[in-house]
Amino acid sequence: MKDFHINTEIFFGENALDRLTQLQFKSVLIITDPFVVNSGMATLLTARLERARIEYELFTDVVPDPPVDKVISGVAAALSKKHPCIIGVGGGSAIDTAKAVRKFATQMDETYKPYLIAIPTTSGTGSEVTCFAVISNPAEGRKYPLAEEELLPDEAILDEVLVKSVPASVTADTGMDVMTHAIEAYVSTNNNEFSGALAEKAVEISGQFLIRSYSSNEDTHARRKMHIASCLAGLAFNSASLGLNHGMAHQLGARFHIPHGRANAILLPFIIEFNSGIGLTNRSQKDYPPCVRKYCNLARILGVSNMNEVTTIRALISYLHFLNAEMGIPSKVSDACPNLSKEDYEAAIDAMADAALRDGCTATNPRIPIKNEVMDMYRKIW
Ligand code: NAD
Repeated sequence: MKDFHINTEIFFGENALDRLTQLQFKSVLIITDPFVVNSGMATLLTARLERARIEYELFTDVVPDPPVDKVISGVAAALSKKHPCIIGVGGGSAIDTAKAVRKFATQMDETYKPYLIAIPTTSGTGSEVTCFAVISNPAEGRKYPLAEEELLPDEAILDEVLVKSVPASVTADTGMDVMTHAIEAYVSTNNNEFSGALAEKAVEISGQFLIRSYSSNEDTHARRKMHIASCLAGLAFNSASLGLNHGMAHQLGARFHIPHGRANAILLPFIIEFNSGIGLTNRSQKDYPPCVRKYCNLARILGVSNMNEVTTIRALISYLHFLNAEMGIPSKVSDACPNLSKEDYEAAIDAMADAALRDGCTATNPRIPIKNEVMDMYRKIW
């Protein structure tokens, strides 16, 4: 038996932030990063809370790839005043921190059950609707994807006004994160008709609007569409889970601090080649693994369908390389990390491959990878 549910209520569209004026809480804890406060973006929330006479406290210590110690200080902040509502506002890092803070604070004090609202300011992770939170352990150079129903936010607010300021390079990285979520969920061994429908729509919107959104902060229509696509892809992978792409990307983020979406973007064409078993010199064959038909569906949606399975998969791979290049995303780790030496990178490959195989996302990859194959792929992307 399978189960599909959407338990997060989603408020979206123009002025969606006005939802904050309807809240019935006396006070809230806002968990965010310094950018959201310093840029003045936080006032879009706090002004509305003030209008509704809701008190607020700001916790602004979030950093990218949130480490365990920031979650611990967030839990201390949550438990000190026990605000009945926590609002995570920012990119995936801020939202994941808020999700982890709510989970651990509730575990430490069973009488404390705060409501959780997620407000994304990037269009990428879909974290506002997932029961995942990715926490880093910098000492070990590892990322831990936590996966539990209790991490799921009660509400998500998608207001495009918050993504207007996202710079081009972050739009590119996070947009390719959306594309990777949708594609991985679509071919996941855990996919189903519901997750498939959400993933197809997310791919369609990303194909139409990602480059537009990247090209101009003023293209509000494109940015609104990508904000929705991010959420759709989040709903898709929350149901179907992900794959090896994420399992490998988590290691690149934890060790070399490559932004999450960028690490996914670099890997994506190589992962499709690996999963489909269709390389540069393959000829047509009678049978293909089931994921090939699915990749071909997505190629059709993206308008790069070709003569047969082999040429269509090659066209899809080329299209993803093209998207990366158009948006200035480096094609190799050596370009993404100019200060990293080849020797240091190669020395890390063995441990990264072990960690990628252990990563929870890898379990639903359509092709079961062995260690040598993962190591080879890490070498290919250098
Ligand atoms: P991020 O939250 O790390 O933010 C990246 C940068 O963008 C930060 O410097 C931030 O200050 C800045 N930023 C955020 N909003 C902005 C805005 N509106 N204008 C200008 N700058 C802005 O990046 P992200 O890609 O959103 O999140 C990545 C994190 O999310 C990683 O830790 C990743 O592992 C995690 N993640 C979680 C899930 C999930 O389901 N929980 C899924 C995918 C990724």
